[in-house]
Amino acid sequence: MLLSSTTQQLQSIINKCHSRIVYQVNESVFEVKNNNSNFHIVNLTLLTCTCKQFQEYRLPCVHTCVAILKACKQPSQFVHSTYHITTLQNVYKESVQLVDIKTCFFDNKTLLPVMIKQAG
Ligand SMILES: [Zn+2]
Repeated sequence: MLLSSTTQQLQSIINKCHSRIVYQVNESVFEVKNNNSNFHIVNLTLLTCTCKQFQEYRLPCVHTCVAILKACKQPSQFVHSTYHITTLQNVYKESVQLVDIKTCFFDNKTLLPVMIKQAG
C-alpha cells in the first residue's frame, strides 16, 4: 500500500496522461509524445524514461504513466518500495526511542551533538 501523499501525487500525474500520444515500439519500450511534439522514450523493463524523472524519483513520470496504461498495467506497481507504508513502518519500527530530557543524567563528558547548518 502506498503512502497517501504518494497516491495523490500519482493520481495527479495520471490525470495528465490523456493529452499524450503513445506508440508501442516493442513489449517494453514506448514513445510518448508531448503536446509540443517533443517525445520521450520509456522502457518499462529497465524502468527508465528519457526525461530522467522516473530514474531520479523512482515514481512514474507522466510519460511512464502513459506507457504503463498503454500496457494495461497499474502505475502503482511501478512505484519504488520507499513510497510504501510498510517500508516507512519498518524504518521506524525499532530505531526510535523517545527520551525525556529531564530524566537524563548529565556527566559533563557526554555532550549533545554539534549542529552545523548546511548551506542551501
Ligand atoms: Zn518521463
